[in-house]
Amino acid sequence: MSSSSVRAVCGSCAAGCGIIVELEGERVVRVRGDVSHPTSNGYLCQKGHRIPWFHHRPDRLDEPLLHGRPATWDTCLDDLAGHMGRALDEHGPDSVGIYWASGMSGDAAGMLTLGRFRAAIGTRQLYTSMTVDHAPALRAQELVTGSPELVPTWVPEDPDGRLVLFVGCNPAVSHGYMTVLPDPIRRIRRFQQRGGKLWVVDPRRTKTAEMADGHLATRSGTDPALLAWLVRELLASSAGGDELRRTTSPEDRARLAAAVGPFDVVTTSRITGVPAPELDGLLDAIRAAGRIAVVTGSGLLFAPNGLVGEWLRWALMAVTGSLDVPGGMWFNPGWLSAIERRDPWEPAPPEGSLAPGPRSRPELSLVFGEMPCVAMADEIEAGTLRVLIVAGGSPLTAFPEPERTAAALGRLDALAVMDVVASPLTAMATHLFPSAGQLERTNIQFYNGRVTLSRRVVAPAADRRPVWRLFAGLAQRLGLDVLGGLEADVATEDDLIRQRLDGARDDPEALFAAGAHGILPPRTYGWVRRFLPEGRWRIAPPSMLARLPALLDPAVPDRPFRLICRRVTATKNSADYLPIDRLADRPALAVHPDDGVALGVGQGEHVEIESQAGTVRGVVRLDPSLPRGVVSMLHGSNTTNVGGLTSTVTSVDPLTGEPVMTAIPVSIRRLLGTP
Ligand code: SF4
Repeated sequence: MSSSSVRAVCGSCAAGCGIIVELEGERVVRVRGDVSHPTSNGYLCQKGHRIPWFHHRPDRLDEPLLHGRPATWDTCLDDLAGHMGRALDEHGPDSVGIYWASGMSGDAAGMLTLGRFRAAIGTRQLYTSMTVDHAPALRAQELVTGSPELVPTWVPEDPDGRLVLFVGCNPAVSHGYMTVLPDPIRRIRRFQQRGGKLWVVDPRRTKTAEMADGHLATRSGTDPALLAWLVRELLASSAGGDELRRTTSPEDRARLAAAVGPFDVVTTSRITGVPAPELDGLLDAIRAAGRIAVVTGSGLLFAPNGLVGEWLRWALMAVTGSLDVPGGMWFNPGWLSAIERRDPWEPAPPEGSLAPGPRSRPELSLVFGEMPCVAMADEIEAGTLRVLIVAGGSPLTAFPEPERTAAALGRLDALAVMDVVASPLTAMATHLFPSAGQLERTNIQFYNGRVTLSRRVVAPAADRRPVWRLFAGLAQRLGLDVLGGLEADVATEDDLIRQRLDGARDDPEALFAAGAHGILPPRTYGWVRRFLPEGRWRIAPPSMLARLPALLDPAVPDRPFRLICRRVTATKNSADYLPIDRLADRPALAVHPDDGVALGVGQGEHVEIESQAGTVRGVVRLDPSLPRGVVSMLHGSNTTNVGGLTSTVTSVDPLTGEPVMTAIPVSIRRLLGTP
């Protein structure tokens, strides 16, 4: 059997690390880091190393199933297209919906055909993991800049960088969020060796916090108050100087100053639980640095007031003059679409772009053209949504109320699932399509500016196919075109990728030539202002100012513990890269050892966690890195599902459609024996 190795990009998360895939024939035997990769420098996390296991795992899906029985692709597609055609004829475009999530990341041909299919049938029923993940970040961006497209990024290699503040974010483990960090520990260390300061705001002493020059252990859910106080102090001293005056209006500065006025250090210390001298330490460090970068993550975004916290992050960067300048945050102008070359667009109104949303949930809006995930069950129960395609994700683990979600999915005329491995969701599918995995398709990754093209490493095994074949097959049967005029029997993945690259910054062939090492757009600054509303950051949107007083008087929790979410390197949401019984931090319900004593539970004992929305059972792990009074659970896991403690109805932000998924009051009860 011949041995070979292929340079590629890891598609297991958005960090896009360079990999070398070693093969014996078609068998993937080893994956190692590509030391010549310009960003990841040979780094691989556990998921990257485990790609061979994932690729050959015994529960890979290999053949289509129709109502649980083996079928051909044609039979499955014929039947599904029949359901769709009838639903569209009898109930209109909104009777057919699509949900996609992070498993589609990098699948350029799949995403192109998915988008065209949705447009061709004219459905508004598009759901993605955005509204159970980062919708607050995008809405805050839109409120401040007038567009959700202008994404600020921290660049650790920026020679002018002096201070980065991570809020509710543990990139040493998660590899970042809106700022994605391949090779995070070495890159943060180099930033510090050049004199850069790292500060972390997080209830838990995370791996990133252990590296920090300063760590403020806030009470979970109170980070927005800390940000409001920083804004107050730095705005009062005009810390951003000319840059602040040039890029914000005097009226906005006055309104913001009045709104954050009550957040003095005593009040902020009371709310956050952080002693005033520690708060002052962070403020002094920011003053010394001048310009700063602020990076947030799920600890802020998933919490109550996540949107307010995100807006305050923008306000903090604006008042320190840190946006679109060296030493602060860089805005990636893009390679797939050169944003800075476009004509300025009409900015969204100060209250955000709010289009009518699901009929069953009139209090919710469409969120950037998508239905909020919390409304999917309502739309099915109301009889509006009848046929659903799910690709690369699982509503059962990503949405609140998994039991209600499962019951709703069970009422559909057809639930078509395309995925790589078996799961509780694939077991429910009426039409199950086995998907090509990350090594069996060509991927385009784009992260923090760099765009890479990772060629297919091995041919799809068994009867697996890429996602674009699903949409092409359905479109052909429904008389639609998702292939840009190509015939289905001659179209190739490369054809579709070249179509996707239409409008790119340079000749698409440049990306094919650059391959896995990719292309970095110019690191230019100062181009964003041309796109801002009246050339300024909108630092005082009325809807956000109106929410500030509520931060001053946080509700007294009616239960003794707070749920906080965590990530581990061996999983990415519902995708496990180790057999679940080998996960290092399983069991997944972690509490401080002193809380274990107070509860009368020890390592490995069973407990039930209860919130206002429901209960979850699991096994305890004692973790001294946690503060007292919190319980930490994996997010998006197939094992112990946080969704059982969250609600599709209460605590949903109407501006983002996002449910509260962390900092939830919970109680813990010891169970006798195995639950
Ligand atoms: S951080 Fe891990 S999962 Fe993400 S791209 Fe790198 S190796 Fe893959």
